Amino acid sequence: MSQPLTSTHETPNWGDRGWSDPVDRPARSGAGAVGLWSTGETMRTLPEIYCDTSSVSRLPVSVEIFPPKTSDGDQALFDTLDLLVTYRPAFVSCTYGAGGSTRDRTLELCQEIESRYDTVAMAHLTCVGSTRDELLEWISRVRDIGICNIMALRGDPPRGTDSFAAVSGGLEHANQLVDLIRSQGDRLGVGVAAYPEVHPEAVNAAVDLENFKRKIDAGADAAFTQLFYINENFLRFRDRCQAEGISVPLIPGIMPITGYSRIQRIASLCGAQIPVELAKRLEAVQDDREAELAVGVDYAIEQCRELISEGVPGIHFYALNRSQACARILDALGHGASPELSGEH
Ligand SMILES: Cc1cc2nc3c(=O)[nH]c(=O)nc-3n(C[C@H](O)[C@H](O)[C@H](O)COP(=O)(O)OP(=O)(O)OC[C@H]3O[C@@H](n4cnc5c(N)ncnc54)[C@H](O)[C@@H]3O)c2cc1C
Repeated sequence: MSQPLTSTHETPNWGDRGWSDPVDRPARSGAGAVGLWSTGETMRTLPEIYCDTSSVSRLPVSVEIFPPKTSDGDQALFDTLDLLVTYRPAFVSCTYGAGGSTRDRTLELCQEIESRYDTVAMAHLTCVGSTRDELLEWISRVRDIGICNIMALRGDPPRGTDSFAAVSGGLEHANQLVDLIRSQGDRLGVGVAAYPEVHPEAVNAAVDLENFKRKIDAGADAAFTQLFYINENFLRFRDRCQAEGISVPLIPGIMPITGYSRIQRIASLCGAQIPVELAKRLEAVQDDREAELAVGVDYAIEQCRELISEGVPGIHFYALNRSQACARILDALGHGASPELSGEH
């Protein structure tokens, strides 16, 4: 049983597992508008979205997708978004492929999400393979097409290498990218990555926290965590951030494990700790896809319930371009689809 690590909220039964001025932009409205708060305003930048969640009726939920590589993948993504936007996510974020491989596609998709669904989009940007000038050009394109949030990241080392090397004239760390964005004087919303279970390349947790703080001090508005399955690790990290005076919204990143065979991959990709109990439950139903999905989704629902009771300012879902798991979790959390938007009257 996980013990509450902060005392402000009652911890639910967890089973046996142990910002700032608004951007000068007209508010959108209409049946397709999302991010609608109880006031009826549309929140667009990260500081607006997370500024005062106590006065809003819905917790801001965001959904991360990636640019598909095929036209079938595009179709599947839009089928997914057709459903997920009915849950009125505060925004949809779109990743930036390894090595900058999806640089243009990321922006095209963000533009399409904003126009097709009237939903706020956040474009990810990494330092990989780009000079400072190229990054500046990309940032200016973001602004020109009207996207108002950037997730500023360093990016991973190329496959087959252990360490990140900046290109000549490029940036070495995400805090420099945040600096670069802020040097433009924009009022863009800037998100950064956080690692409750410590970044795999970090010397130790204390140094990693110092480095995380550099991104916040450089002007990040909010931080989104790497996916994790042990809430205690997130809550301890949050306590350590608070002790360091880090006060930006820290949004947990949730990705349900939808199959036993995925555990190894998830652990090797980002080093997430997988609770033994969850692994056992998935193993017990392996090869029964529906049962595996149910186990992963149920676990994520419990994880989200506890995090919400601990007062998190939002939840960021790694949707992997699929809707089923996210939709089930949001339904269970009472964050149901809007009838007008889903066509149910
Ligand atoms: C929410 C989220 C979204 C992501 N989206 C993408 C994406 O779209 N595309 C993609 O390619 N990857 C993405 N990633 C993965 C991310 O690029 C990798 O985790 C990468 O290894 C680190 O990126 P970062 O921005 O956290 O780097 P940094 O904050 O720069 O940290 C990287 C490492 O360097 C250390 N460090 C940081 N700053 C300094 C400094 N000033 N001096 C010395 N050491 C320092 C840190 O302790 C850490 O070990 C995402 C990750 C998360 C959590």
